[in-house]
Amino acid sequence: MKNKQYLIVGLGTFGMSLAKVLTEKNAQVLALDINKEKVDDAVSAGVNAVVADATEEKILRKLGLSDFDIGIVAIGENIEASILSTLLLKDSGIKHIIVKSMNQSHSRIAAKVGADRVIYPEEDMAIKLADSLLSPSIIEEIELSKEYNLVELVLPQSFYNKSLSESRVKEDYNLTVVAIKRKETVIADDGTTDMKEEMIVSPDSRELLQEGDIILVVGRESDIEKLRQKGEK
Ligand code: ATP
Repeated sequence: MKNKQYLIVGLGTFGMSLAKVLTEKNAQVLALDINKEKVDDAVSAGVNAVVADATEEKILRKLGLSDFDIGIVAIGENIEASILSTLLLKDSGIKHIIVKSMNQSHSRIAAKVGADRVIYPEEDMAIKLADSLLSPSIIEEIELSKEYNLVELVLPQSFYNKSLSESRVKEDYNLTVVAIKRKETVIADDGTTDMKEEMIVSPDSRELLQEGDIILVVGRESDIEKLRQKGEK
């Protein structure tokens, strides 16, 4: 399979972090910014970046954007530049465009001119943080649909040393445990110890649940909430 190519427009805090992480993970990235200093910073961190104004159609055309699979417009404050750049990226044939938005009207216009996805990193992070503060047992939560979620949950104490079938997660909560993350101590030949994380995907119903396990559960939000509350009792 061909590696995906990412175009990042705007090297503010968000665009810069995204560009660095994708590059570190060996993705193919091209980042643009009108500010030379930002581009120099990115280049010195190993990111493939060039100085370019993403609202200039001629310049974008020279960059051959139709080869890119995903475009991320991370210009925040200049909403006009963000919208124009989104429109030009869409016209250039990039398949999937994600726009970092500042407010609701920005989001609506971005969607109208071709954004496939609009994100608000600050708000999303605040929601996640609030959830984790209120529900410390939930480590990660992914919305699969309006009704169904996938969550990473610290194993409730009442399930310690029970098999998956004895825990009755399926029968009593209508939830499916799709995987278990377990930390194990490994002892090296020289006697030193280290912690290794094991991932048990699609666990057998006889799998013994252990203190410290993290379970990945799929189900309705209301059922997940019931299980989470059990963990707090
Ligand atoms: P963050 O919160 O991620 O720091 P922000 O939302 O405050 O970013 P800005 O700082 O306004 O966003 O813009 C991000 C980057 O986009 C800046 O480095 C800026 O130079 C760059 N930028 C602005 N307009 C353009 C443009 N027309 N073409 C390319 N880059 C641009």
